[in-house]
Amino acid sequence: MKPSSPALISRDPLAPCAQPAYLWCMTAPLIDPFARAISYLRVSVTDRCDFRCAYCMTEHMTFLPKAELLSLEELDRLCTAFIRLGVEKLRITGGEPLVRKGILTFFAAISRHLQTGALKELTLTTNGSQLRKYAADLAALGVKRINVSVDTLDDRKFAEITRWGRLPQVLDGIAAAREAGLKVKINAVALKGFNEDELFTLTEWCARDGHDLTFIEVMPMGDMGEVQRTDQYWPLSDLRAQLATRYTLTDLTIRSGGPARYLRLNETGQTIGLITPLTHNFCESCNRVRLTCTGALYMCLGQEDMADLRAPLRASPDDAPLEQAIRAAIARKPKGHDFDYSRQKVAGQVRRHMSHTGG
Ligand code: SAM
Ligand code: SF4
Repeated sequence: MKPSSPALISRDPLAPCAQPAYLWCMTAPLIDPFARAISYLRVSVTDRCDFRCAYCMTEHMTFLPKAELLSLEELDRLCTAFIRLGVEKLRITGGEPLVRKGILTFFAAISRHLQTGALKELTLTTNGSQLRKYAADLAALGVKRINVSVDTLDDRKFAEITRWGRLPQVLDGIAAAREAGLKVKINAVALKGFNEDELFTLTEWCARDGHDLTFIEVMPMGDMGEVQRTDQYWPLSDLRAQLATRYTLTDLTIRSGGPARYLRLNETGQTIGLITPLTHNFCESCNRVRLTCTGALYMCLGQEDMADLRAPLRASPDDAPLEQAIRAAIARKPKGHDFDYSRQKVAGQVRRHMSHTGG
């Protein structure tokens, strides 16, 4: 609850906590320097994965030593602090979140915030490989919608792009999710020369099976060895033009509070999301921050700056220093990323891989 005193309400929410306004410090929402309210936290619970997608990782990826990972109890304490500060939506991601040992215990613990109503949504992004095992339990714990990454419906190409993944296992996982009552959104990274020819196959599959579908432009994250980002990049402006050759497109004004812009295909009635960090910067509406499995908080996916939350977390059982560190971090949230391929070369690249920060 917000304090009712006008003197407290008029306090600058970005000012560092000072004693006379301690009540405000405890209850003010997280607002960044560009007046964006931060209500969404993505948590990467592991950097490990059972796939090695060619746009996300190198084949011989070096992962963090397990000793560096926060325990699930520590991650719970961090998430709980964010929820106390006004985060209403939590997405669990990775790496592959469902390969983290004990992950269901973590979901079970976090779901108490759904029961109190403090948390409005608990969801996850997964490659789908473990869904047959976990979907029913996730649904029972209050997860309603999940994102599953599928870039191709061709077995051979799937094995090629994920290196270690197998499409039938993922499709079976998606079936399990649907049987458990979970709403599924398919995430497909648009990749030049790889899935351009599957645009309509993916779209029709989602229409037929009732999945939402979002396309994502490939972002310059992490050193990919020989792979050139500009060789992978298929601009969604082009993808959209391709869709328009077959469907009548209507731009929708709906916003999910995230980067996706939506359009409807009039003929099928389905909604397609487009995430366009390169062709159209969406940072003005950014409502999210990202926490890694080591307790680093990234205020922007496309910038190197981060805040270490592990130190205040471990320094004291009292959450006050942690909450102050979170507020200080939000006060440095940058305006946006600097990704750019427009001069035929990559600008704004960040060193860490997507699997480290969580997509
Ligand atoms: N392993 C899970 C999965 O694949 O859904 C969750 C983590 S993964 C890093 C989250 C999302 O990031 C996936 O949809 C993946 O396709 C996407 N992704 C990974 N690397 C990317 C990149 N360089 N550019 C754009 N999207 C990327
Ligand atoms: Fe793993 Fe997801 Fe990255 Fe693929 S995109 S390697 S499934 S973390």
